[in-house]
Amino acid sequence: MKSTLKNHVSRREFIKRNALAGLGTVVASGLSAPVLAKALETTPQPALLGGPSAWSELQWPKWPQWNPETDEKRLLEVVRSGVWSRANVVTEFEKEWASAVGTQRCLAVVNGTNALVTALSQLHIQAGDEVLVPPYTFIATVTAVLSNGALPVFVDVDPETFQMDPKKIEAKITSRTKAIVPVHILGLPCDMDPILAIAKKHNLVVIEDACQAHLAEYKKQKVGSLGHAGCFSFQNSKNLAIGEGGAVVSNDDAFMDRCFSYTNFGNPYGTAVGAVGAGSVMQGTKLRFTEYQAAIGLAQLKRLDAQTTTRHENAEYLKSMIKDIPGIVPYRLYDNVTRGAFHLFPFRYKADGFKGLSRDGFLKALRAEGVPCSSGYTVLNTQPFLQDTFATKAYQAVYPKELLDIKKYNERNHCPQNNQLCREAVWFTQNMLLGSRSDMEAIASAIVKIHKNAEQLKSTSQK
Ligand SMILES: *Cc1c(COP(=O)(O)O)cnc(C)c1O
Repeated sequence: MKSTLKNHVSRREFIKRNALAGLGTVVASGLSAPVLAKALETTPQPALLGGPSAWSELQWPKWPQWNPETDEKRLLEVVRSGVWSRANVVTEFEKEWASAVGTQRCLAVVNGTNALVTALSQLHIQAGDEVLVPPYTFIATVTAVLSNGALPVFVDVDPETFQMDPKKIEAKITSRTKAIVPVHILGLPCDMDPILAIAKKHNLVVIEDACQAHLAEYKKQKVGSLGHAGCFSFQNSKNLAIGEGGAVVSNDDAFMDRCFSYTNFGNPYGTAVGAVGAGSVMQGTKLRFTEYQAAIGLAQLKRLDAQTTTRHENAEYLKSMIKDIPGIVPYRLYDNVTRGAFHLFPFRYKADGFKGLSRDGFLKALRAEGVPCSSGYTVLNTQPFLQDTFATKAYQAVYPKELLDIKKYNERNHCPQNNQLCREAVWFTQNMLLGSRSDMEAIASAIVKIHKNAEQLKSTSQK
């Protein structure tokens, strides 16, 4: 609580010093460029050049959040009960998460990576199959495909939205293609209607990687509930944080029974019974969630909806303030998106608009203002782990040499839009979007300040 008060004061202080007070209102209300230009005239020096910094990094909202008064009772009950392995609290969390997402079933597992491994395996993705994935994603999307012995095939992105481009999917489909894994990357929903239509036409399953997109919506439906299966992560940085954790959701009972069995040594479960008395139903593994993870998850879930609203509103507000700055191109949401989860706030940085100041130079200047930021993902679809996997006996035994030839593979999986996106992207993390509107204004004014002093920052960064 103390730190909130401190924030408040220092942000006030910042606005006073900055002489850009009201910039947010000015830009958001669509007032003309001359007003912005006027504000710019009085902009102080960037922190990197000796001016006052926007503020200290320590004051951004902390993540994860924990409230002893409301969150600890349940957790302590679990810890003191000695029932720590999967039981009633896990079941309760699964019910709540299914209901939050709008599916009939949910299975909690150890993490998001293994939620994907489980879903792919129980939709019968295996050696010899091809799975369509975007290159702009966390490595685990691809790991899950490889873990099942399948071949990832990359579909280039739409740089405006950062998502897999539906227009580029059909060209990548072959007789081996079995599944599409749309990833709602950064918490921004993919354009699911065309993706689902293509999947239907070619008889492919759709497994949504919603690991960054808790409670994001497409046509008022939660992502993760739109394909055959949806996968979530509850890793510490994610919008629903449990430390580690993951979930598979679906409306397909037989599939969910198989998933349960798979994550519990292949033991019979529900309709997954096998031959009576035959013991294990399948070659499973063990990926069970614990009672204390579920207790933490239930506490976090209570806050998630309100936090998601705050992130979405702050993201749109910040976007409105920076979208007209030359060289800044914020994300675009598809028309059917009714809510973003904004695990990250993304924009593209065009050095041309900043007198040629490099992205690294821009990030450095922004960090000096006290605004944490990153350049996001590097190119994934040419990384050496792919070649290493293709060289294994398992892959060599199943696929024609031609498909595993890395030169040919790289040609087939060339994604020029993604390469460009990886050079231009800038991210802010979700916890920053839990701040106040004046926090968003401070981010915007820090960017304006850098824009105005781009020339000087460029020559400094080249020294
Ligand atoms: C975090 C993440 C995963 C993996 O989740 P873990 O819980 O870390 O295993 C998979 N896909 C995407 C897009 C992610 O962001």
